[in-house]
Amino acid sequence: MPTPPRPVITIVGGGFAGTALAVQLARQPALKNAEIHLVEPRPVPGPGLAYTARRPEYLLNVRPAALSLYPDQPAHFADWLQAQPEAAHGAPDFAARATYGRYLNQELSTLLAAPTAAGHGIRWHNATAEAAEKQSGGSYRVQLSTGETWATDYLVLALGNFAPPPPAGPDLAYLAHPGYHPDPWAAGSLRRIGPDESVLLIGSGLTAVDVLLALRHDGHRAPVAVVARHGRWPAAHGPATAHYPNFYAELAAETTVAGVLHIFNQHRRAAAAQGLDWRPVLDCLRPDLGRIWANWPLAEQRRFLRHLSSLWAVTRHRSPPENAAAIAALTASGWVQLHIGRVREIEGEGDELRVRVKACTEAINAWHTAQHVVCCTGPLLDYSRIATPLVQGLRDAGHLVPDPLGLGILTDAHGALLGADGRVSATLFTLGASRRPAYFESTAVPELRQQAAVLAQELAQRVAQWSGESPEGVRPATAV
Ligand SMILES: Cc1cc2nc3c(=O)[nH]c(=O)nc-3n(C[C@H](O)[C@H](O)[C@H](O)COP(=O)(O)OP(=O)(O)OC[C@H]3O[C@@H](n4cnc5c(N)ncnc54)[C@H](O)[C@@H]3O)c2cc1C
Repeated sequence: MPTPPRPVITIVGGGFAGTALAVQLARQPALKNAEIHLVEPRPVPGPGLAYTARRPEYLLNVRPAALSLYPDQPAHFADWLQAQPEAAHGAPDFAARATYGRYLNQELSTLLAAPTAAGHGIRWHNATAEAAEKQSGGSYRVQLSTGETWATDYLVLALGNFAPPPPAGPDLAYLAHPGYHPDPWAAGSLRRIGPDESVLLIGSGLTAVDVLLALRHDGHRAPVAVVARHGRWPAAHGPATAHYPNFYAELAAETTVAGVLHIFNQHRRAAAAQGLDWRPVLDCLRPDLGRIWANWPLAEQRRFLRHLSSLWAVTRHRSPPENAAAIAALTASGWVQLHIGRVREIEGEGDELRVRVKACTEAINAWHTAQHVVCCTGPLLDYSRIATPLVQGLRDAGHLVPDPLGLGILTDAHGALLGADGRVSATLFTLGASRRPAYFESTAVPELRQQAAVLAQELAQRVAQWSGESPEGVRPATAV
């Protein structure tokens, strides 16, 4: 009797989300015979963009208890950390991001090295996926930068975050200036900055905090200007022990931003009366943020993005207290000089860059000059502007549709991509930041590991029903 063909699953992107999916796929008995490919161009798979950084001053933004790779084993990372040299004098409250990268790589390596007891073996391709073309049966042919190709029955995009878009236009000549740093995470970018050279950062979020700490660590002496629209630094984490009871039931019927804010503020005042600040009030809603977002019509989501997203960014995405204290001290010393306004124009002038900043409330323009300008405005999320060959190819073919708010990709509840013809793909899936249109908060470890676990179960179920032929490629649209 001929052996039935093995289902083929391909994960593009071997950062946190790709790793979380790989470990979950390996737990699925129904996928025992599946051929699983992981495509990741970094020399070490697992850490991805956030946790590849080797600098010890780059800390995790959350405590170890929130960082397990496995949603059903919440203490997994904290226990692992206890056994590491970093915990010789007690586990750090906020470990280095590189330590977490090592954890992810170790967990993934056990699957890459040899098939597990359940029979799973995952093949890592140290390359970039450059194209995925739909075949007549509904499968996709993946093509790598190495020239290797294969047909896959399920293709999962776990592409992570893309470098920030240009912060000013329309003249983009400054992008080619040697003093302009479009991506603070690009290897060696900050090492090009001399200790006495003038620096201007655009943005004051977590990325700017990291860049300031890295410059300080490198012995940078010249003052650093920071230009930000609202001039807010990320809030510091409070004590891990503060808790407030979940009140989602009161918000479940709210379809406006104002309605949600009203109820939130009532609870904020109630918490204050108990001696608690806003942090635990916000944190108790964390599992429900996606539902609150999804309950808002598009106009309300747009309203939130216009008026509250920058406040949200600094309250929801917090700094370790030691980082917040360091920034406060650097600002008080005058080394960091914060300017509030929007960057409107950047132009090269010899070795320097001139940056025009417009104050938010008045029609005042100020010109700042610096030898280095570092863009810390956060990742590009808008898939209509992402120009990597894989994304562009899928988008041009109508298999990947950017959402109207510029947050990510249109998907159904399982992360299956919605095509330009309005139908949900049975082959293409995504997880991670690309699913922000559905959840808004689709950024951090707790959300991503959950998405990975659910998607692995979903793929296992589909494979279990698999007839041995490729899925037909599309099925009628369900919830998006
Ligand atoms: C600097 C930084 C710090 C962060 N700190 C924290 C934190 O402390 N706690 C927390 O919970 N969250 C943190 N986050 C949020 C972070 O986004 C998630 O925790 C998580 O790392 C995202 O995982 P990901 O797999 O989606 O993206 P990534 O880990 O970036 O992985 C995506 C991978 O896809 C690969 N890729 C892209 N295109 C292709 C292609 N065409 N072919 C093959 N491979 C491709 C990339 O090389 C990359 O490695 C941080 C984010 C950043 C940027």
